[in-house]
Amino acid sequence: MAERVAGPEIERLIQLLSRLPGLGPRSARRAALHLIRKREELLGPLADAMAVAHQRILTCTTCGNVDTRDPCTVCSDPRRDPHVIVVVETVSDLWALERAAALRAKYHVLGGTLSPLDGVGPKDLNLSSLVERVARDGITEIILAVNATVDGQTTAHYITDLLSHLEVKVTRLAHGVPVGGELDYLDDGTLAAAIRQRTAF
Ligand code: ZN
Repeated sequence: MAERVAGPEIERLIQLLSRLPGLGPRSARRAALHLIRKREELLGPLADAMAVAHQRILTCTTCGNVDTRDPCTVCSDPRRDPHVIVVVETVSDLWALERAAALRAKYHVLGGTLSPLDGVGPKDLNLSSLVERVARDGITEIILAVNATVDGQTTAHYITDLLSHLEVKVTRLAHGVPVGGELDYLDDGTLAAAIRQRTAF
């Protein structure tokens, strides 16, 4: 085993950093050293920000987003169309769609997908609250922004059935050629979906 080069406090910092996604032990060491060097400008403010986040982070009881307020910043934003809900699997999907800034709507985080093999059933997802919102808030469109996986599509079909008795249009994301993508590099399933969902030019 390699000799320790730092005391237990710094070793603990490195060990915790190495649990972050995308950081292995080597990059965790580099990050720790960077934080230590930038003690005043970075390490201190980061520690403060983490302490505040740790105390105040909660789950929005309306949509399932994480924030420091409930209803969350997205739910309480008056510039969003209150009649359109984008349904996503996870908070990271919500944040990804917001980065794309393609639409100003409300969201609903399912907390996963139906997965019979993993024992995930309808009761394990935020489905009843979605039906309640659609019925209560005069929602006119539900955009199913779930992953193009078998479980994602199973979940999309389930939600469509669940909402069929309500006056709401259910749409889903287009599947197809990525922006900047070359046809020759696409897998057959993506290419077939892109042809099927072609649009007028
Ligand atoms: Zn919310």
